[in-house]
Amino acid sequence: MGTCPTLSAMGALLWFRDDLRVQDNLALLAACESAEEVVAVYLLDEHSPEIRPLGGASKWWLHHSLKALHAELRALGIQLIFRTGAAREAIPAIAKEIQASAVFWNRRYGASRAIDADIKQHLHHEGIQASSFPGHLLFEPWNIANKQGDPYKVFTPFWRACREQPAPAYPKDAPDPLGGTPSEFPTASLDQILPLPTWPHEFAQHWQPGAAGAFEALEDFLDHTIDEYADGRDVPALGHTSKLSPHLRFGEISPREVWHAVAEHPAHDSEGARVFLSELGWREFAWHTLYRHPDLATCGLDRRFDAMVWEHDPEGLTLWQQGKTGFGLVDAGLRELWRTGTMHNRVRMAAASLLVKNMMIDWRLGEQWFWDTLLDADEASNPFNWQWVAGCGADASPYFRIFNPETQQKKFDANGKYVNRWAPDWMAHTPVVDLRESRARALTAFDAIKGLPR
Ligand SMILES: Cc1cc2nc3c(=O)[nH]c(=O)nc-3n(C[C@H](O)[C@H](O)[C@H](O)COP(=O)(O)OP(=O)(O)OC[C@H]3O[C@@H](n4cnc5c(N)ncnc54)[C@H](O)[C@@H]3O)c2cc1C
Repeated sequence: MGTCPTLSAMGALLWFRDDLRVQDNLALLAACESAEEVVAVYLLDEHSPEIRPLGGASKWWLHHSLKALHAELRALGIQLIFRTGAAREAIPAIAKEIQASAVFWNRRYGASRAIDADIKQHLHHEGIQASSFPGHLLFEPWNIANKQGDPYKVFTPFWRACREQPAPAYPKDAPDPLGGTPSEFPTASLDQILPLPTWPHEFAQHWQPGAAGAFEALEDFLDHTIDEYADGRDVPALGHTSKLSPHLRFGEISPREVWHAVAEHPAHDSEGARVFLSELGWREFAWHTLYRHPDLATCGLDRRFDAMVWEHDPEGLTLWQQGKTGFGLVDAGLRELWRTGTMHNRVRMAAASLLVKNMMIDWRLGEQWFWDTLLDADEASNPFNWQWVAGCGADASPYFRIFNPETQQKKFDANGKYVNRWAPDWMAHTPVVDLRESRARALTAFDAIKGLPR
C-alpha cells in the first residue's frame, strides 16, 4: 500500500472468523493500511465455552472456504495461518509471536462478544492496539430500537426502522497487494485443523464454497430469478431462491454487497426485490435478537414454554432425522438436507412444525440436528427460526398455528416434483402420528401453559 502516513514497520495480525472474504472487509483494509506486513490467522476454537462447536456440514464448508481464502490472501502477499485453541490465550500469543503492533477483526454478535472484549483489554494492556469493524450485518443492533429505546420484538416495525436508517455503506474493494512475499510463520495444515468429514458425498455437486461461488450465486439469482422470487420462493421444486445463505453465513459475501447489487439491478423496484430484501431483514432480525439473547439456542424467549412437557421419543426423532415420517414433504426435505446440506425454507417450516407440534419433541433437538447438517447453520438464524416455528420466539407463529404437512404438500408441491425427487418411497412409511389427534394433543399442551407468565 505504502500511502498511509502511520504505516508501522511492525506487523499487523488479522483475525478471520465469519468474514472469509478479501472484498468489503473493513478489518483487512485497516490492517493493510496500518502495516507493511500483515499475517492472517484462522483459529479453530473448540475450547471457549461461548463458542458452539461447529456441526459436521459447516466443517465441510469451512474447510473449502478457507482453502479459497488462503489462495486469495496469498495473491495479496498475506500469509493465512491455521491454529487451534482457546481464543483468549491463543490470539494474544500469536500477536506476540509475529510481533504485531495491532490486531484487527470484524465484529461478532453472539456470546463470543465476551471473548473479543476480554482479548481487546488484554492486548491494550500489552501495548498492542486492537480494532474491530462492522460487516456481518447491515445495521448494528445498538442502532435499532423503538421510541422507548427497547429492541423490537415484531418484524414489521423492526424492518421499517431499519429502512428508515441511512442505507448501508457502499461495499469496499479488496486492498491492493502488499509489496513483499507472504511471511512464513509456522502453521497447522487445513487437513489437521479441519479434516474433511466422510459423509457429505454429494455436497460438492451442489455447492462451491468461497467468494467466487458466492458471486456466481448472486449473479445467477439477479439474472434469472429475482423477477420470479416473490411467488416462486415458496415452491420447493422451482429453486427460485438465491442460495446465498451458506455464503452469507461464512461471510464470503457481505450483506452490504448483496444489498447494493439488488439496489443497482434494473428490477430494484419490483416486488421480487422488495421481498428478497425483507428476507435479508429476517436475517438481520435473527442476529439482532441473538445480540440481546445470547442463549437463543437453549432458552425460549417466551418463558411459558419452560413448563411445556415434551415427549421423550428417541425412535420418533430418528425417523424424523432419516426422513421416514410417512409425510412426503417432510421426508423429502430431511433427505434433501442429508444429501445436499440444505432444505428449502418452506419445507424447513413444515418439517420443524411436524417435529415440535405433532410429535411434541423439544424444538432444541430439531435445532441441534439442523445445526449439524445444514451448511448455512448459524448461531442466530437457526435457533431463531426454530423458536419461531415452536411458538416461543420473536414474532413467532402462534402456537395454535400448526402446519398440516399434507396440505402444505398439496399447495406447494402439487405435481409431486419435489417429493418424488427426494423421497419417492415416502408412502412406504407408516405416518409417525395421526395428524388430527396430534394436533389436538398439542393444543391441549399449550392450553396448560398459556396462563403462565411470559
Ligand atoms: C427451522 C428453520 C431453521 C433455519 N435455519 C437457518 C440457518 O441456520 N441459517 C440460515 O441462514 N437460515 C436458516 N433458516 C432460514 C431460511 O430457511 C434460509 O435462510 C433459506 O432457506 C436459505 O436459502 P436462500 O439463501 O436461497 O434464501 P433466499 O430466499 O434467497 O433468502 C435470501 C437470504 O435471506 C436470509 N433469510 C431468508 N429467510 C430467512 C429467515 N427465515 N431467517 C433468517 N434469514 C433468512 C438468508 O440469509 C438468505 O440467504 C431457517 C428456517 C427455518 C424454518
